[in-house]
Amino acid sequence: MSFSQFQFHPNIESGIRDLGYTSPTPIQLQSIPIILQNRDLMGLAQTGTGKTAAFVLPILQRLTAPSRKRIRALIVAPTRELAEQIHQDIQDLGRHTKTRSVTIYGGVGKGSQIGGLRLGAEIAVACPGRLLDLMEQGVVDLSHVEVLVLDEADRMFDMGFLPDIRKIIKRIPAER
Ligand code: AMP
Repeated sequence: MSFSQFQFHPNIESGIRDLGYTSPTPIQLQSIPIILQNRDLMGLAQTGTGKTAAFVLPILQRLTAPSRKRIRALIVAPTRELAEQIHQDIQDLGRHTKTRSVTIYGGVGKGSQIGGLRLGAEIAVACPGRLLDLMEQGVVDLSHVEVLVLDEADRMFDMGFLPDIRKIIKRIPAER
């Protein structure tokens, strides 16, 4: 099995090649076709099995269609370390695309995150608390979100983020 079966944009295939991935992992094989069909999906796989690329690659594919500088994919993660890791994977896999990603999490100044949002990005990787904070300040517009990912959803719920996630979901389009 190779990545060519998914018919990703050549710029995305170049990113995959640069990282040295030769064949999709099981979670990628099972989930990428479903996400490419714009269907909802719940996936369960251990860390280290390639689950980040399983959602990042179809998101990059969707975002090759023009409509730039507004957030079209929102990835919510429980910790800033995970958010940074996902952001890095997006940058690596999307290095030949024009898609931009920003991170939003607490424990650091808001200035550079607000600056990044003002410059415009199509993907936001966010922890719930700071995201709600910036939404309340009116600096994050989620009204164009087409794709929502809850990464490590089970852990987020264990950590008590469910009320925050409900508030976030209320602010994104119902059709996603
Ligand atoms: P993850 O489960 O998303 O944390 O990914 C674990 C590691 O596997 C990361 O270092 C990825 O860069 C790598 N990886 C993801 N997909 C593949 C693949 N198809 N082939 C080889 N390595 C991969």
